[in-house]
Amino acid sequence: MATKLFYEDPYITSFTAHVLRQEQDKEGKWRAVLDQTAFYPTGGGQPNDTGMIANKQVLNVEEAEGEIFHYLDSPLPLDDLNEPVPCTINWERRFDHMQQHAGQHILSAAFDHLFEYKTIGFHLGNEAVTIDLETEQLSDEQAAEAERLANQIILENRDIETKWITEAELLDFPLRKETKVKDNIRLVIIPGFDYNGCGGTHPKATGEVRAIKILNWERQKKKVRLSFICGERVLVQFGQKQKVLLKLAKLLNAPEQDMEQAVIRMLESIKAAEKQLEKHQELMLRNEARELLEKSGHRLVGAVFQNRTIQELQQLARQVTAENTQTAVFLISENENRLQLVCARGEARHESMKQILEKTLRLINGKGGGNDRFAQGGGEAIMTGEKLLDSIQQIALHI
Ligand SMILES: [Zn+2]
Repeated sequence: MATKLFYEDPYITSFTAHVLRQEQDKEGKWRAVLDQTAFYPTGGGQPNDTGMIANKQVLNVEEAEGEIFHYLDSPLPLDDLNEPVPCTINWERRFDHMQQHAGQHILSAAFDHLFEYKTIGFHLGNEAVTIDLETEQLSDEQAAEAERLANQIILENRDIETKWITEAELLDFPLRKETKVKDNIRLVIIPGFDYNGCGGTHPKATGEVRAIKILNWERQKKKVRLSFICGERVLVQFGQKQKVLLKLAKLLNAPEQDMEQAVIRMLESIKAAEKQLEKHQELMLRNEARELLEKSGHRLVGAVFQNRTIQELQQLARQVTAENTQTAVFLISENENRLQLVCARGEARHESMKQILEKTLRLINGKGGGNDRFAQGGGEAIMTGEKLLDSIQQIALHI
């Protein structure tokens, strides 16, 4: 096994190593095995490091079968295997992981100390970090209290120590949760506050975590998934949110503390305007229906439009038959390469609009449905709307 430099000193950012082996994996990806490495492989909830080996990019680092594989963007030009190669870690990425990971220990311990909520899951994501707490409820006050305690531990800048111990020695430490590892157990300790088995990388003192901010939480079955950020992420996300808020303040013409009310007022006035619009549209349709009835002598209404939706045709047909129960109405709209139509009749009539529609649709390879009083459908514009209207009227006469 390669020497794990990230355990000897998590602050190592550059080192030299001998390449023991270089090979392609089953998928053809190039990977190298070194005699010692500061590249942290994915594990324990912490993502892998990236960086450079010689002038090749390290894209991924995985530990498997007792070896650490460094996946490269292209193979190393190895002229002489005895020559050590220079390696550098992407420190910004790694230190971010150290901050998030140590922050997780602190926050999990805070929830444990205050409410005995155990952490049963942990994910270090690109945007946020999540922990799963073994509880069905978490109140705003509890979250705030845990955040306050966690930030107090950061402010006190307590040491973060690591210790390798045996299973027998476990009894000497008040572990927050049981470890899965049985020998060569690595403890991460914040004296007087947290004792936890962990294989990840952490800063040497809690102050380096800088800050912990809880973002949100949600109940999931029998647990609560809580997301938070630490360190630089707090500053970066605060900056992003501030930008958004300033833009919104301008758009809404309201300072931050009045924004919610401003949006509520805006939504209410939109709703009122929509209602008003709906009323006007209904009025216009009623007028249109009356005009159609006037023009066509009240027994049979037929009209052809351009680019009206089937919904509009339906509404108009309903208005016509409501105005005069003795009327049959056939409305067609020419919409690009489609013809849409509605066939309807008033209560006082008896012919089947479904039948008329079905016969008509055969002429234009169409599809549709409905009942004896109201039917609608559409088909191909292989004739004009006027021509189709003539045909419907012929069909209606003979049904
Ligand atoms: Zn850890």
